Amino acid sequence: MKDLLSRRQALKSLACGAGALLAAGTVGADAAKPAASGPPHVGAGDPMAVALAYVESVQNIDVKKMPSYKPGQKCANCLQSVGKDGDAWVGCKLFPGKVVSAEGWCRGYAPKAA
Ligand code: SF4
Repeated sequence: MKDLLSRRQALKSLACGAGALLAAGTVGADAAKPAASGPPHVGAGDPMAVALAYVESVQNIDVKKMPSYKPGQKCANCLQSVGKDGDAWVGCKLFPGKVVSAEGWCRGYAPKAA
């Protein structure tokens, strides 16, 4: 009986701890990935990313669901991106304070002027 009570107490403590982590926003698929340094990466659960169907890699685009995507389009050559050639992560005017993958894409894509 004593074991049962202590197990209950342990489960209760675990549930409280998990709830606190969720409330703090530190657990869950929606949390943006912290970059090693610099601004956080746009996460798949970011509401704006969901609205714009952002993907971290154009390899993951379902072209049947995203007919506006054309091969060769990616964040690195998008008008909205801010960064240097060769950067793996670039700023995006649609995601202020965060960075997107240079190999990513979203519905906001517009080609840079040649
Ligand atoms: S607007 Fe352009 S740079 Fe920003 S996430 Fe979409 S495709 Fe990438």
